[in-house]
Amino acid sequence: MSEKACKICRRITEEKECEVCKNKELTRNWKGVFIVYDPESVMGIKAECTVPGRYALQIF
Ligand SMILES: [Zn+2]
Repeated sequence: MSEKACKICRRITEEKECEVCKNKELTRNWKGVFIVYDPESVMGIKAECTVPGRYALQIF
């Protein structure tokens, strides 16, 4: 698996840095995926996601 998750916002990315918060600390140790379609939704607020996309449920 080449996808990594941002340790700050948990965004899943294949890039070398997080495209949301520009953090370079990414981890391969993550599990589960949830998708944010609408950051205004309850789930988006709960996860503090500001950009629609795929996020890791858990990182280790
Ligand atoms: Zn991030």
